[in-house]
Amino acid sequence: MHMTGGRIREVVASLLARPDEIMLEIGAGGELLVARLRAALAAMLLLLPLANALGGGGINETIIGLGGALVVNVFAQVWLSLARRRRLYRWLPFASSAFDVTATTLVLVALAANHLPAGLNSLIVWCGYILAILLTALRSDGRIALFAGTLAIGQYGLLVLAVFALASSPEQLLSSDYGSVTLGSQAQRLVLLMMFTLITAMVVYRMQRLVELSGTDGLTRLPNRTWLLHRVPRLFDSVRHDGDSLTLALIDLDHFKRINDAHGHHAGDRALRHVVAVLRELAEPGEWLVRIGGEEFVLLLRKPIGTAWERVDAIRRALGERPFQPERGADAMPLSFSAGLAGFPHEGSDLSRLLRRADGRLQQAKLQGRNKVVARDG
Ligand code: GH3
Ligand code: MG
Ligand code: MG
Repeated sequence: MHMTGGRIREVVASLLARPDEIMLEIGAGGELLVARLRAALAAMLLLLPLANALGGGGINETIIGLGGALVVNVFAQVWLSLARRRRLYRWLPFASSAFDVTATTLVLVALAANHLPAGLNSLIVWCGYILAILLTALRSDGRIALFAGTLAIGQYGLLVLAVFALASSPEQLLSSDYGSVTLGSQAQRLVLLMMFTLITAMVVYRMQRLVELSGTDGLTRLPNRTWLLHRVPRLFDSVRHDGDSLTLALIDLDHFKRINDAHGHHAGDRALRHVVAVLRELAEPGEWLVRIGGEEFVLLLRKPIGTAWERVDAIRRALGERPFQPERGADAMPLSFSAGLAGFPHEGSDLSRLLRRADGRLQQAKLQGRNKVVARDG
């Protein structure tokens, strides 16, 4: 695959950016999944010191093992209860993945304290890093994958340096159980951690692209109905939380079929793009435009219904001043829309109720001759 510098910068920028709402929601589900898996693995850890005791292991080892497993279980339960609250805490995936990486490092440190080569050559514990990095993909956030990977490389790199510094003779790095520790094999492990981090980040990047595509309309590049369905609950929460009002405007272009009939479907598509370009240009912060169907749009405005009516009516007038030219040399055609408005939360506390309310008013606008914005039942 040929990657230019610009493309790489785009990938990196997209990985480092805060993911969009849909990705965050999927990521919150992923965090819960990881938390459940962690809790199950932690519960299984409790069996290890027990097996050690039954197998005739030393009492000290058993107590230390049991203590470690209990600490891990307490943390696992804390992460689980936080993850159940669903994305209330933006820092949670960072903290929990840092925990997974650091717990792996601490086990390796404990092994090294007992027997230096064990700290660097215990493959099974080292795989904790790989697991921690791979599981960040479920959080659907490139920043977490890069963060956990960098942390693992940093912590493991320091452990390697410390073990080599502490070994007073090369024999201390030889073990009958763990083989010999060499700088070359340790460098390979660091490279492997880097590769897993990059692969995981690429998986997240591809997922981001897919989610973006599924929430974007191909013709106009506007967010689509899927995006609206995912975005709206969180927007409602935030409006409720701030004690604000929100208005939903359902917009339908007037006599659109005539453009298709007179100039063909391609000209119809261009007319749609023209309308969207004008509406985009006019949109202000706190206003979201969505294409929910053929020539139907939803405009969400973080304003009370009266102010929103004035805004949508101003947009309607502005569109009237920007006629569409179907072909070069052809007469420009005026375009207009009709719109029905509904206010959240007093006229409907969920999307389908608001849409139904707005649709009733849109039909009224059409009956009253089109090119009109209606905000009240008449
Ligand atoms: P009204 O004022 O009553 O809304 O009249 P209308 O002609 O706009 O009627 P209606 O909303 O029922 O029909 C919309 C038409 O828009 C039907 C369809 O041919 C056309 N249309 C919908 N989506 C597209 C599209 O993506 N491209 C093109 N070219 N036309 C579309
Ligand atoms: Mg229509
Ligand atoms: Mg129409």
